[in-house]
Amino acid sequence: MSRFLSGRFAALEPYTPGEQPQDRTYIKLNTNESPYPPAPRVLEAVDREQVAMLHLYPDPTCRRLREKLAETYGVGVENVFVTNGSDDILNMSFMAFCDKEHGIAFPDITYGFYSVYGQLHGVPCRVIPLTEDYRIRASDYECIGMHVVLANPNAPTGIPLSLGEIEGIVRSNPDHVVMIDEAYVDFGGTSALPLLRQYKNLLVIRTFSKSRSMAGARLGFAMGDSALIQDLERIKYSMNPYDVNRLTQVAGIASLESDAYYKANAETIIKVREYTKKALENRGFIVLPSKANFLFAKKPGVSGEEIYQHLRDGGVLVRWFGGARVWEFVRITIGTKAQMDTLLSVLDKLRSER
Ligand SMILES: *Cc1c(COP(=O)(O)O)cnc(C)c1O
Repeated sequence: MSRFLSGRFAALEPYTPGEQPQDRTYIKLNTNESPYPPAPRVLEAVDREQVAMLHLYPDPTCRRLREKLAETYGVGVENVFVTNGSDDILNMSFMAFCDKEHGIAFPDITYGFYSVYGQLHGVPCRVIPLTEDYRIRASDYECIGMHVVLANPNAPTGIPLSLGEIEGIVRSNPDHVVMIDEAYVDFGGTSALPLLRQYKNLLVIRTFSKSRSMAGARLGFAMGDSALIQDLERIKYSMNPYDVNRLTQVAGIASLESDAYYKANAETIIKVREYTKKALENRGFIVLPSKANFLFAKKPGVSGEEIYQHLRDGGVLVRWFGGARVWEFVRITIGTKAQMDTLLSVLDKLRSER
């Protein structure tokens, strides 16, 4: 920290991203990326012609991409907002809707960025514990009288809320924004999208990083009432109007034209998830019931850190968070079946060594 850093940020604890090692090749099951490449159409769309256009700024309104999103998800263009990854949407939402007097509520065990954005923007955060079995209790958020952000399915547990539970939270907080972060919804959760028409305080946040195999392109989008979208535009145009680059806009459109490809991949990932869950349970693991592209698992008597380290030594990266209530757990991204079989065989070595 230099002596020039503003005192506002002296106590800020930044988010720690999962490792992206560049030294050797690991089986990467640590940051919930897709094991599959983008659809063939995406590879064709980002061609020499597009690269040659990079001397020109991209369309700041992302009009064609937003039209394609609106068509895909059955909303109006004025209901769609896109940014450089959905982390930016979360950040801009905290900036747009929250301040000292307008705090936000979220669970104790959830996506780590929510508390970082709270700190970054000086927003009071009400951190509500999950139940003993790591579930969000929807009634904790009903009539809460502050903004709410929930990942659905939640991360890193993978456990979803039902549409009815989400609706209860949205309906009972008409004067506050309820942000539903649906980063993992394509792996078996239920989207809150059908509620959009009825509720002006609902913001649904999505990403191309997980089910659409585009983590490296950085593309996130939000859907909500046009007034909420305008608030977010206001922030974006006060920061970086060109935040979604030319190649990513083209790739995004091509991705939306390849829905069948991504649906098939998601179905495969769901099958491999259930296979891996059973295999882990057969090996004495306790595995939370996930509807995401990852499993949150622990083995009684072995620390999460030990499992993480052993797997790393065996060439398999998973995520260990440590910290209260989750130190025993590791989060395992679902890769291909072959990758999961490697994970299982490395785990079997740990068992025979102990
Ligand atoms: C991965 C993830 C995001 C961020 O996605 P990007 O679009 O890559 O920024 C947001 N929320 C949750 C819960 C995630 O797991």
